[in-house]
Amino acid sequence: MPTKKISAHSLCVKEYHDGKTTQPHVMPIYATSSFAFENIEDSIQIFKGENHGHVYSRYGNPTIDATAQKIADLEALGTGLNAYGFMTSSGMSAISSLVMSLLSKDQSILTQGDLYGGTTELFSKVLFQAGIKTHKIDLSDLDEVERYLLQDRSIKLLYIETPANPTMKCLDIHALSKLAKKYGAFTCVDNTFCTPLLQQPLKFGIDFVIHSTTKYLNGHGNSIAGVIIGHDLEYKKKLGMTIKLLGTTCNAWDAWLTYTGMKTLALRMERHSLNASKVAEYLEKHPKVNKVNYNGLLSNPYHALAKRQMTDFGGMLSFDLDTDLQGTLKFINDLKFCTQAPTLGDVDTLVLHPATSSHLNIDKKTREQNGISDSLVRLSVGIEDVEDIVSDLDQALSNLL
Ligand SMILES: *Cc1c(COP(=O)(O)O)cnc(C)c1O
Repeated sequence: MPTKKISAHSLCVKEYHDGKTTQPHVMPIYATSSFAFENIEDSIQIFKGENHGHVYSRYGNPTIDATAQKIADLEALGTGLNAYGFMTSSGMSAISSLVMSLLSKDQSILTQGDLYGGTTELFSKVLFQAGIKTHKIDLSDLDEVERYLLQDRSIKLLYIETPANPTMKCLDIHALSKLAKKYGAFTCVDNTFCTPLLQQPLKFGIDFVIHSTTKYLNGHGNSIAGVIIGHDLEYKKKLGMTIKLLGTTCNAWDAWLTYTGMKTLALRMERHSLNASKVAEYLEKHPKVNKVNYNGLLSNPYHALAKRQMTDFGGMLSFDLDTDLQGTLKFINDLKFCTQAPTLGDVDTLVLHPATSSHLNIDKKTREQNGISDSLVRLSVGIEDVEDIVSDLDQALSNLL
């Protein structure tokens, strides 16, 4: 953590140096599997942990560690906490490594039904097989959350995603964190959609934050990686050990791309938010759009909550078209400027049809109950000239069946 007061914007741009080497201006990619010791005494001290020094890149290396520490510092900025971070090979491995560090057989997770699809499957298929169960409930119902925490003492982790994908529903991080504390459960927020620039869960008492850095933190769609952020030193060693032994560490190349991408994070998030708010306002007025899910809209039911816990509303939104499945598929094919791609948070505008992609394996009734109809379209609004995004949407909407 830098000692002098520095803003989140400046922190994004700051260079992080490895104290052990003479300084190149910009962090290089340490493409080395191991690090040489000066002599056997040096080696013994490093292995014993008496001296700082890198050992083997599966345990981390200067590129990987600098990236993790920068994200940790951003998550903790202004909180007074000393956060630490571990870069992992993907967002998914950040989640699995965290859960496997904290929970053991016969302990369980309390979470929401509308998690990122991969997370839902990880919990129900892989972790379930390891004896870790998951309860999926409506986390906006705080009485229900408390009832679960009280009645089922096997619950050791409250796992939260807000805003949720693709409906942008928000959950009250502060209230949930207080409840979990009361019953001795850990808390984790998947902060992928917001990045620490828009939302800092640690401020609300959350124990751990994870990201798919694949998305906004990198921003350029050219790496897969994740990160786990924590602040309680008691778990730092355990997390480090789990990542090292599961081998879920990030590689230096993907860490470096993330590190480089983050230099413009503040500029990007500002532009993503501005563009998305303009797109949302345009869509809300369009007669062929039934509903727009964007937390920045005054009409949005989560607007007040989002304003309390977020500093801006980000680049993600979804909208419901006044047409059927066929009309929606045609609309997506009619888009020429926006690209169809199953990711989010890149600098260019990306479109996704949840019903036939991320939510394909969820039965129609459950899907619709969760607000994901056949005519729902998700947009990851990019940083281009917003006129180009709007005019593409406009021409496709004018052809709507
Ligand atoms: C993409 C994503 C993940 C998974 O991350 P990967 O980097 O693809 O493993 C987890 N959570 C959210 C919210 C995501 O968007």
